[in-house]
Amino acid sequence: MARLICLFGGTFDPVHYGHLQPLHELQQTLMADIVHIIPASIPPHRSTPRANSQQRLEMLALALREYPDFVLDTRELEREGPSWTVLTLQSLRNQYPDDSLCLIMGSDAFADLPTWYHWQDIFKLAHIIVIERAGFEKPGRPEWANDYRQEDVSSLRNSTCGGILYVSLKGVDISATDIRLRLSTGQPVTGLLNDEVITYIHQNDIYSELN
Ligand code: ATP
Repeated sequence: MARLICLFGGTFDPVHYGHLQPLHELQQTLMADIVHIIPASIPPHRSTPRANSQQRLEMLALALREYPDFVLDTRELEREGPSWTVLTLQSLRNQYPDDSLCLIMGSDAFADLPTWYHWQDIFKLAHIIVIERAGFEKPGRPEWANDYRQEDVSSLRNSTCGGILYVSLKGVDISATDIRLRLSTGQPVTGLLNDEVITYIHQNDIYSELN
């Protein structure tokens, strides 16, 4: 039977429990075989004073000590040029030719999908799993989504790509924007992200200025 491979991309600036807890719950719900965490590269003109790629990677490596099942996948940081998701999926499809690839995104990111580079090709390479994001509108089913098959948890392994699954998980209302704001104004962030990541942020003086 095809394996189920979950893919979760983002800027992770910084990585927080709003990313990792829902993903862990999803992994259990789907009985996913492998979960890849894929940090995106950010164009140099957008990198200061936010964390640079190396720092985002180091924060992820620290945070993932708590989630040893997750694979830190650096292919977007190693590739030249923009982090188009469709290119990442092509590379993952080469790695996993016969498995079910599931691209996971929060409902806010899903709403913007039709603005992504060659977004329709994404469905030729992977399923999309939409997780409800606390604090954002519930994921509706946009008109364009009717062109794609709606999956349920048990049907995801029957095909390798092309469907959409909407999943409702325990919401975790944490955002990177809020964390950066708190850090720049001296407010506590304990419990919102991994303690070792908090120490790293302070040691490297990463988000002390608001941008
Ligand atoms: P910001 O809070 O500034 O919007 P972000 O954490 O959403 O930042 P990314 O790191 O790029 O930014 O997010 C990666 C993915 O994680 C996106 O698909 C986003 O929708 C999802 N995500 C982020 N926070 C949550 C959350 N609290 N619950 C569910 N999904 C989330």
